[in-house]
Amino acid sequence: MTTAKLLIICYNKTAFMSEKKLKVGWFSFTCCEDSTILFTELLNDHYQTWLPKLQFVHARVLQTKNIWGPMDVAFVEGAISSDSQAETLKKIRQLATKVVAIGACAVTGRPSGQRNDFPPPLQQEIDSILKKFNYGKKVKKLDELIKVDAAVPGCPMNEQKFIEILNLYLTEFAIN
Ligand code: SF4
Repeated sequence: MTTAKLLIICYNKTAFMSEKKLKVGWFSFTCCEDSTILFTELLNDHYQTWLPKLQFVHARVLQTKNIWGPMDVAFVEGAISSDSQAETLKKIRQLATKVVAIGACAVTGRPSGQRNDFPPPLQQEIDSILKKFNYGKKVKKLDELIKVDAAVPGCPMNEQKFIEILNLYLTEFAIN
């Protein structure tokens, strides 16, 4: 069992020991998932502080049992490159009270969306690949499709800014 999986079991088991926890989701779309790696490292570093305060509703990178249910905060990494991804993102928006864009790809659409800037001949060259995998013509940043409540810029994400926003929501949702 990986350290990350062990951590997540501990985080979720303590859900039964604590009165109230911040229900969070972590989602990745088109990206390299480097911010996910940073996030798991942060979980290790802040284990003692966050363990009694966080409950993971959905985090495929950390656990196999995930729920499509209401959550306080959804952290979303990556750009949106297909209609099916856009639908999933909208579903997340409906389930989450707050949505946070994580990393440059989610916040600005780049670098994952650099194909948007390809000149026409290059666009033509990749057209068959886009069709084959049902990708859209353009890659989109999150706020082109949904309302985004907060953003953590950086490639990968700025760790301090992430901690700042997490702490903000712990306070806002009255998680002590
Ligand atoms: S913002 Fe950078 S680190 Fe994050 S997914 Fe995109 S390319 Fe990867």
